[in-house]
Amino acid sequence: MLHLEEIISNSERLFVGRDIPEYYYRDTYVKNIKPVYAVALPKTHEEVKALVQFAIEKDLVMLARGAGTGVAGAQVPIQGNELIIDVHLMDTIIELDEETLTLTVEPGVLVGAIHDYVEQKGYFYPPDPASKHSTIGGNVATNAGGLRAVKYGTTRDYVREMTVVLPDAEEMTLGSLNIKSSSGYDLKDLFIGSEGTLGITTKIRLKLVPLPKANVTILQAFETVLGATQATLEILKSGADPSGIELFERQALYYAEQNLGYPLKSQVGEAYLLMSLDGNDLNELTNRIDLVQSVTSKLALESHVLTVEEAKRNWALRDNILLGLTAFTEFELLDEVVPINKFAELIEATKEMQEKHGLNVLNFGHAGDGNVHTLLMKDDLTEDQWTKRRASLLRDLYQKVDELGGLPSAEHGIGIVKKEYMTSMTEDVNLDFMRQIKRVFDPDDRLNPGKVF
Ligand SMILES: Cc1cc2nc3c(=O)[nH]c(=O)nc-3n(C[C@H](O)[C@H](O)[C@H](O)COP(=O)(O)OP(=O)(O)OC[C@H]3O[C@@H](n4cnc5c(N)ncnc54)[C@H](O)[C@@H]3O)c2cc1C
Repeated sequence: MLHLEEIISNSERLFVGRDIPEYYYRDTYVKNIKPVYAVALPKTHEEVKALVQFAIEKDLVMLARGAGTGVAGAQVPIQGNELIIDVHLMDTIIELDEETLTLTVEPGVLVGAIHDYVEQKGYFYPPDPASKHSTIGGNVATNAGGLRAVKYGTTRDYVREMTVVLPDAEEMTLGSLNIKSSSGYDLKDLFIGSEGTLGITTKIRLKLVPLPKANVTILQAFETVLGATQATLEILKSGADPSGIELFERQALYYAEQNLGYPLKSQVGEAYLLMSLDGNDLNELTNRIDLVQSVTSKLALESHVLTVEEAKRNWALRDNILLGLTAFTEFELLDEVVPINKFAELIEATKEMQEKHGLNVLNFGHAGDGNVHTLLMKDDLTEDQWTKRRASLLRDLYQKVDELGGLPSAEHGIGIVKKEYMTSMTEDVNLDFMRQIKRVFDPDDRLNPGKVF
């Protein structure tokens, strides 16, 4: 059997025992200090295979990791003897194929780097998680969504083909270069969103589209959150075809304003919609702006078409909500999704729960696709109050999401933090088949065990 040092001969790419950096034990919100066997940072597909083979021979469990920006605890070691395979150094953009409009990359390439690279060449990779510093391998493993899902879909819609190393160290190519397939089970789709429980991705071929030539941002203010959610439905029905509709409450934005040191363009009302429209023709875009303004004229207090500079500053505020909040209080970030016609009802229910449970609740999120990021805030509560009130509110909230036909996670994944709700909100027969599928690929439960279900 090869030693770890023989597989990863560069000591800067291998951490063992006390040398393992602290950040491998946590994600943004979850901390779990359990001993880790080692952290290896492969640079090639062959090294990943050899590491998996090593783990099998040593009877270790394994955990794939990208940039570690996950927020569900999926990349946090919980077993006590994990070999963490951190692929973020596999960060080569391998090939832009302009004939098939695809980009082949290693899993450690950052999604922000993909945007920059393809946009310079006139192409567009639409999935746009706010975490631009997350890896494409992590995005595929969580089926990351982001700001443009309302028009363009999620990561799943942009993966043509991927190569994975399976838990038995075999390798497999999933999907193909063909645009359509009616050729048997779609194993690629099974792996996308599986949170590193079925295989370790080492190469991904992404679909690109032409870069839209024109883009405009509209900011609208509303008296209430309900008004903003009603406006969202009107905009979606109008044919204005927004590429993003973000909703946030004034109070949630307050923290971003403090953090960045400048105000949102509008200061009236309790809730806002920040939306983008893209296309190839400015005239056509002007017609769509008119559509947005006419269908929301009775609901919006203010409506601003932003200049390029204003758009940059106002989107930065939206992206800064979480970071801004971190400086003020401890909080729990949720990622529930409901059918779009239930969005308003969910937001209303969170406000009632705030009163009932004595816990401050704020909402922001991707209104255009029914995905709310509800924030539960600790503020001045004692640890005991925080733990108890949060637990009872979460029970009520997920029950409501279930009643509305929603799901516990739209884009962040289940990891460990939402396991309880995933199991209570999913039919037994569905869970049973998911577990059977996991056993087919990973009979020894070696890859990221204890996550998702
Ligand atoms: C400030 C902030 C904003 C965010 N905004 C968004 C957003 O708008 N939309 C959104 O969808 N998410 C968002 N996220 C969540 C997070 O960025 C995503 O879940 C992201 O896809 C994780 O990528 P990563 O490279 O950091 O993966 P990690 O956190 O390292 O891992 C996440 C999961 O992917 C698995 N994994 C990683 N690489 C591989 C691989 N090569 N093969 C197999 N499995 C692998 C891990 O095992 C784990 O299960 C945000 C997070 C933060 C902190």
